Amino acid sequence: MPELPEVEGFKRIAEQSLVGRRITKARFLDDWMLKDTTPWTAQRRMKGKRVTSVDRRGKMLAVFTKAEKGEHDAPVLALHFGMTGRPIVTTPDEPIHTWDRVILDLDDGTQFRYRNSRRLGFVRVVTRNEIADMAWRLGPDALEVPASYLIEALATRDAAIKAVLLDQSFLAGVGNIYADEALHAAGINPLRSAKDLAREEVEKLHRALKRILERAVKAQSVGRSARLPLLGVRERASRQLGASGSPKVGCPRCQRPLKFAKIGGRTTFYCGNCQR
Ligand SMILES: [Zn+2]
Repeated sequence: MPELPEVEGFKRIAEQSLVGRRITKARFLDDWMLKDTTPWTAQRRMKGKRVTSVDRRGKMLAVFTKAEKGEHDAPVLALHFGMTGRPIVTTPDEPIHTWDRVILDLDDGTQFRYRNSRRLGFVRVVTRNEIADMAWRLGPDALEVPASYLIEALATRDAAIKAVLLDQSFLAGVGNIYADEALHAAGINPLRSAKDLAREEVEKLHRALKRILERAVKAQSVGRSARLPLLGVRERASRQLGASGSPKVGCPRCQRPLKFAKIGGRTTFYCGNCQR
């Protein structure tokens, strides 16, 4: 399940594979995931384009291309990874996988593929203006947002803080696992209303979120997953959950049994003692 740190890793993979390369052939194999256009139009717009940069906002990558002579608006390929998408760098002799939704042939003889086992996420070919607008609707990036934004924005939200953190229009890129991790580190009960949090608590949450996401991005960049306090416990608990229905795992800080709840449709682990 990719979260922001994984997608930050995807960005690096896409950058290494695509930047400076010319797309000799573009194939859009899933006309359901490709929004607002047909595969034929999308292929025609991307073919022959040189990639200038790759940017990430939340779980979406934007692949920017260079405008050709007389063309004022070069197309941007937007790839949203949803829960299960990932980039694949390979060569044309690898058979096409059922889950390959986009295949870009590059002028160095390699191939970049967008593979997604489920159809969550999307593929779009848009203009620079449209991508700026899409990025804006996603909310600011969790890795870059200042504490002042959280303080102001949370004060108006009357919903569980965990649910607000998962809302992609509020903050792009925080998934279930890192939201739990940050709330645990900041000592905040995930069920509390966002607007009731004190300023110092929001500042603490902001620092925790940044620290955790940065650690995860760093680990991801060397192909590992970050060792975070709740993560191991979570994995043990979900194995138990499959077996018995009521996991018994201890808080990594105080060792008392962790509680679990569904918030925003996602399983949430928290400590009733450390998180108030
Ligand atoms: Zn605890």
